[in-house]
Amino acid sequence: MGLVKYALKNLLRRPATVEDPAAIPVPDDYRGTVFMHRDECIWCLRCMKACPANSIIVDREKEVFVYKYMKCITCGICEDVCPTDAIEILPVPREAKYKREWLEY
Ligand code: SF4
Ligand code: SF4
Repeated sequence: MGLVKYALKNLLRRPATVEDPAAIPVPDDYRGTVFMHRDECIWCLRCMKACPANSIIVDREKEVFVYKYMKCITCGICEDVCPTDAIEILPVPREAKYKREWLEY
């Protein structure tokens, strides 16, 4: 395709970006991300021990639950092993962040 034709074609295109990314519908095949309901957690560590990607860290003494979104492969094992249904995988996209470590919740 010639340069002029390519430029004209792109001039007529709608912008590839949107003002509000949250307005973009979540794709049907989006596998979701892990959410943890603190009130239902009994700090049994099962999710941390079962996670094949080491994306969950649970500190029973401090009652801290850390989920590393960038490591998660959305396999759903943590949701399956949790005895109290404290973990849920929901089709809610996480926000984009500037730094990898900011994607820990
Ligand atoms: S979905 Fe799988 S990889 Fe992600 S946190 Fe749960 S067990 Fe780990
Ligand atoms: S498996 Fe469920 S109850 Fe156990 S530590 Fe993980 S979130 Fe909490």
